[in-house]
Amino acid sequence: MKIIKKITLLQKHVTALRRRRRAVGLVPTMGYLHEGHLSLMRRARRENDAVIVSIFVNPLQFGPAEDFKQYPRDLSRDLGLLRAACDIAFAPSAREMFPDDFTTFVEVKGYSDLLCGGSRPGHFVGVATVVCKLLNIIGPDRAYFGQKDAQQAVIIRKLAKDLNVSVAIRILPTVREKDGLAMSSRNAYLSSQERQEAVVLFQALKSAERLVAGGQKDPSRLIAVLRDFIGRSAAARVDYIEVVDKETLRPVKKIEKEALLALAVYIGGTRLIDNTLLRAR
Ligand code: AMP
Repeated sequence: MKIIKKITLLQKHVTALRRRRRAVGLVPTMGYLHEGHLSLMRRARRENDAVIVSIFVNPLQFGPAEDFKQYPRDLSRDLGLLRAACDIAFAPSAREMFPDDFTTFVEVKGYSDLLCGGSRPGHFVGVATVVCKLLNIIGPDRAYFGQKDAQQAVIIRKLAKDLNVSVAIRILPTVREKDGLAMSSRNAYLSSQERQEAVVLFQALKSAERLVAGGQKDPSRLIAVLRDFIGRSAAARVDYIEVVDKETLRPVKKIEKEALLALAVYIGGTRLIDNTLLRAR
């Protein structure tokens, strides 16, 4: 595995791969790797000749009062895990990606302010801009993302379509801990008591699935039940719970066939997100 920090050097390696007609898969991450990330890499490995993993804690996608500084980082551990999982680890500095004279931003209008965008203004402009840069730098055949970040997945698909980026976007299922908690680098923030309570997100999703399978079609009733359920956990505070169209991310009035249930909940000071696709009877 090669560890590359400079964009021009990465591009030289990618050009060499292209010349040899190698299919390239890209897995963008912010590091502090867990099994969720590794599942994307395994799939990329199966579908491509070469796998590039980026590790970049993107300052652009953090608000001024958010956790950019505290975000967990352990590059040497990550590189150890990557050795068996990819061919190139791309770990640029913030300055390498966003030099002082950087002024171009990508906004997927009408999608960036919904759901997580409501409580994290500017977040998805940061995400779309960095992903667009990575796609331009590398020009992968396929790029891999997790359904855990459902809104991000929709936004990246839209970005690739609107800007005619020639890449297949693959969205893979959420990998969970044994008790159902979605794996996330931010789980490292949780105290052991909070870690136990954090399962409330998954339990809420499961009870929603059951209610919808049992005939509940009214999103506002469903949301009220979930708010009540999550409210019983002392450490939990709901940021949002929404039932939306899985492609437009707009709220639905009735759960007809399928709808995306997305939620963000603070467990103590840690904001966690999760989602599930609800299927009506
Ligand atoms: P992050 O490092 O959190 O920015 O995540 C990098 C990529 O891994 C994103 O596409 C995430 O959606 C994906 N990812 C994060 N957690 C999980 C998980 N538990 N299961 C599957 N994919 C995940």
